[in-house]
Amino acid sequence: MELPFAESWKIKMVEPIKKSTREEREKWIKEAHYNLFQLKADYVYIDCLTDSGTGAMSDRQWAAMMMGDESYAGARSFFRLKDTITRITGFEYVIPTHQGRAAENVLFSYLVKAGDYVPGNSHFDTTKGHIESRKAFAVDCTIDEAKDTQLELPFKGNVDPKKLEKVLQEHADKIPFIIVTITNNTAGGQPVSMQNLREVRALADKYNKLVIFDSARFAENAYFIKTREEGYANKTIKEITREMFDLADGMTMSAKKDGLVNMGGFIATHHQDIYDGAKCFCIPFEGYLTYGGMNGRDMEALAVGLDENTEFDNLETRIKQVQYLAARLDEFGIPYQRPVGGHAIFVDAAKILTNVPKEEFPAQTLAIELYLEAGIRGCEIGYILADRDPVTRENRFGGLDLLRLCIARRVYTNNHMDVIAVALKNVFDRRNEIKRGVKIVWEAELMRHFTVQLERL
Ligand SMILES: *Cc1c(COP(=O)(O)O)cnc(C)c1O
Repeated sequence: MELPFAESWKIKMVEPIKKSTREEREKWIKEAHYNLFQLKADYVYIDCLTDSGTGAMSDRQWAAMMMGDESYAGARSFFRLKDTITRITGFEYVIPTHQGRAAENVLFSYLVKAGDYVPGNSHFDTTKGHIESRKAFAVDCTIDEAKDTQLELPFKGNVDPKKLEKVLQEHADKIPFIIVTITNNTAGGQPVSMQNLREVRALADKYNKLVIFDSARFAENAYFIKTREEGYANKTIKEITREMFDLADGMTMSAKKDGLVNMGGFIATHHQDIYDGAKCFCIPFEGYLTYGGMNGRDMEALAVGLDENTEFDNLETRIKQVQYLAARLDEFGIPYQRPVGGHAIFVDAAKILTNVPKEEFPAQTLAIELYLEAGIRGCEIGYILADRDPVTRENRFGGLDLLRLCIARRVYTNNHMDVIAVALKNVFDRRNEIKRGVKIVWEAELMRHFTVQLERL
């Protein structure tokens, strides 16, 4: 008999989590104005709000923290981090930052000017924010197939080369770089194939443009290339990672994802001129060049984390857990964005709560129901998050209305996945009885989802 799959780690330290009663949750979520961001984390049993900075560090990472060199300038820990990044990515110039958006801020301060166009595949919201706040335009060139939630494609995060070439032709002199997000977070943690990265590189070369990878989940992307793309089955994750980054001029990184740390980020490149340009913005925004917003001990932990997470076993444990949860949802017939990506499941709320009108926010309603059912916290990626149209001030109902369930790295067991699946099934089973959603009683003008106050109807 074939042995079943199991985790590639064992547990040395545990953190208690508290169960609660439905009555308690009714009270807490009401006090939080039905906004899950406003809940105390102590009131959550299984937290699927985000996979950002929520992972568990290994014994090796904790041990490395004791070796942190907290010198202001020239810290040993910086060089350990830099050498690891260079070994894994090939990039020799490294600027640490306090997280991913800070890396964007520093790099884009140098590269992006008003009136520029930055094509890419579904820019992450902070990436888009850092482009648009500089009065430049983020042009989405993701393949159209990514919009069909039920279509099963191995690399649904890909850039459409035709769309990209059109932008390159139209705005040739106003494009500072092309940005490719690996994995494509916004499209559901969907990977980008090596073949596609090569096509992007070829177009960039044809038009003499830079390619930057937004690399928050680069290791998960490498895992999908290894397991799905022809010719990569026998390559190691580190070989694939290197091959990916050889196709880029530089990268921004949120280390809170595939870096396996709770806070941190960096910029890396092999162009000295980019480094020299960006470093002038690191000092005022982040800090001196050999710490840029990170402690010495945090740089040590990140160096180890990058190494660990570019090993197949660690990635396989993670992604198989996400796939396990997806398989349980399949059993119950619960619709989600297919195929499941690397870090989260996006439940198609609009397909489930068909009696809740869109004006009453079905995905947010589902998020509230799931919390009430079992103390599980997900995140609405839907009509509330979409904000209002800046001109008409109308709600934007054009996109998808999803409930995102992120899986933290090395934190929960498959028993927790079973609780999530069954809790969702229980809500799913009474979906036809849920006829009303929520209404907004207070909202901020921008990024309203973090602070919005709601009432149940
Ligand atoms: C998280 C993330 C960022 C921003 O990083 P922070 O560390 O949250 O600032 C940028 N791009 C992608 C793809 C991300 O997932």
